[in-house]
This record gives sequence, C-alpha cells and structure tokens, in this order.
Amino acid sequence: MKALVFGCTGQDGSLLCRSLLRQGATVVGVSRSSNPNLATHQQLGITGDLELTTADLCDFREILELMTRYQPEEIYNLAAQSSVGLSFRQPVDTFNSIINGTINLLEVARFADFNGRLYFAGSSEIFGNTPRPADVRSPRQPLSPYAIAKDASFNTVQVYRQAYGLGCVTGVLFNHESPYRSSTFVTRKIVDGALRCRHDSRFRLQLGDLSVARDWGWAEEYIDAMQLILRADCLEDQVICTGRMETLEYFVARVFRELDLDWHDHVDLVESLRRPSEILSSVGDPAPMLERHGWRARLDVDGVIAALISHACP
Ligand code: NAP
Repeated sequence: MKALVFGCTGQDGSLLCRSLLRQGATVVGVSRSSNPNLATHQQLGITGDLELTTADLCDFREILELMTRYQPEEIYNLAAQSSVGLSFRQPVDTFNSIINGTINLLEVARFADFNGRLYFAGSSEIFGNTPRPADVRSPRQPLSPYAIAKDASFNTVQVYRQAYGLGCVTGVLFNHESPYRSSTFVTRKIVDGALRCRHDSRFRLQLGDLSVARDWGWAEEYIDAMQLILRADCLEDQVICTGRMETLEYFVARVFRELDLDWHDHVDLVESLRRPSEILSSVGDPAPMLERHGWRARLDVDGVIAALISHACP
C-alpha cells in the first residue's frame, strides 16, 4: 500500500507516518519546505523510513505531478495552519492553507480519476459551543477564521464525495495531544511551564481564560480512528472524541498536582492571552465511532495528562 501524507512533519502527520510504516506501507510525506523540520520524525525514529518530498498544496500542477508520480492508494490531508489563536492574527494564511489547499487537492483527485481514498483533517472548532455532545449532524457555528476554513473544507469534501463520487471523507477531530505538540499550544505550554516552575520558583506561567472547557484525547489513538474512517466499506464523516469535557483550570490544576505543586502559586492570568471570540465548551459524542467502527478513546483527559507527564519525566 502506498500513502501520501500532506502535513507529514506535524504532530499527527508524524504519528500517522509511523503508524503506516509499521503496517508495511510505502509512505511519501509532503512538506512545504525543502528543508523540513524533522525533529518529531527523529524522536519517533522514522527518519529515512519514508520518502520526503516538497509541494505547495495549493498548486494544481505540483499536486498533479505528485499524484502521477506516486500513484497513492491513500491520501491524508493534514496540512494546515493549525492554531486557532494564530488564525485571528493570520486569517488569510489560515484560509489559504486550509480551504485552497483542500479544494485544490480534491480537484486534482477528480481530474486524475483518483480511485483511492482521501482523508481530510476536520476540526471540532466547526461546532462552536456544544450545548450537547456533538456528532457530524450537530449545528455548526464556527467562531474563528480557522473554524470557518475547516467548516468550508468539511462541506467541500462532502460535495466531492456526493456529487463526484470521490472517495473522500472527513474525520472531525476534537483536541488531541501528545509530546509532539508544538510548544505554542496551550497543553504543551502548561506541561512545560509546570516543569519549569518545579525547578525555578520565580518562574510565572502566563495563561488566558481557564474557564473554557474541552474534550481532550490522545493523538496516537486518534491516528487509528482516522484510518478506520478512511478504510470503511461505506465512507461516512465521523466525530473523533472522548466524550469527556473538562475546563482548562482542571487541566492546569491536575498537571501541577501531578508535580506536587499548587497552580495558584505559579500561574498569572493575563487578559491579553484571551481570544477575541472563544468557544466556552466543546465536547463530542463518541457513540457513532463506537457503533460504526468499534473505536473508543482509551485515554481521557486524566490519561492524557499522566501520559504527557510521564513522557516529560521518564
Ligand atoms: P501541526 O502539528 O500544526 O501540523 C500541521 C502541518 O501542516 C505542519 O507540520 C506543516 O508542515 C503544515 N503547515 C503548517 N502551516 C501551514 C500552512 N500555512 N500551509 C500549509 N501547510 C502548513 O498540526 P496537527 O496537530 O498535526 O494537526 C493535523 C491536522 O489536524 C491539521 O489540519 C489540524 O488543523 C487538524 N486538527 C488538529 C487537532 C489537534 O488537536 N491536534 C484537532 C482538530 C483538527 P510543513 O511545515 O512540513 O509543511
């Protein structure tokens, strides 16, 4: 089996490449850069095991050339400016990377009569606040440039599946973490910050609104879910989540407690770190993935925190 992975250097891309390689697949990873950051590949021990290539996801000719050269059976589109916070500061880049990249890839696949499967990395941000645990049919109210772009791309993937019969599908992923998260993401910032506080009592960790609540899962498990969705007999978009929601304050308190610290002694709440519009509560409904694919998240927020800390302090 041959797979093409866009966004192969990111958290999910790196874990997905490792998973595919372990299954014996030939993996071609695509990065925007001819000198990609392979730190995560090195940590995972997969450097040199996959072929790396460079392409601009928004360039029709470049992507067509890739499809023709590699003839993949599976394509994963994980490339994106993936930070919600940054999307408020860089909305155009965020839109381009997500919407234009997605439609370009779908259009190349249609043009090339691609008869394999194509996965799009959707996001729970499309729902906005979730009064009830969300599934793919829940009302959507994107509240950031990132969420708007993911919402439009989710719709576009559906249209290409329904109107053109393309084998494309979206996994709508709730937050998922690993030690390979970029340090700009809040969960990583909290774990790194708490560890620093343990050694440096003068260090203050600055955070924004701790009342927001999220459904946090473990990235490695979500990689398995993506592949189940992609390889199903009947393609159906699915929400991937744990079904448990906790506040950011819960997350912070638990991380500090695991390190025998009281977060109140080390954290400053900073107004400027609040987002212009913020989702207050976000949780998914895990039942459809269990019914359709027998998949359920084994680690919820407590398991995620324990795993992050045990990785940081082996
Ligand atoms: P990530 O670590 O930020 O990786 C995304 C990759 O996309 C980067 O390694 C980068 O690869 C590429 N990229 C970054 N900026 C880009 C831009 N402006 N244009 C084109 N490509 C760009 O993200 P992740 O956490 O692995 O997430 C993977 C996908 O799932 C993303 O689409 C994300 O939006 C989505 N998602 C993630 C979560 C989560 O909790 N992690 C939740 C829901 C959805 P190169 O620099 O090598 O090109």
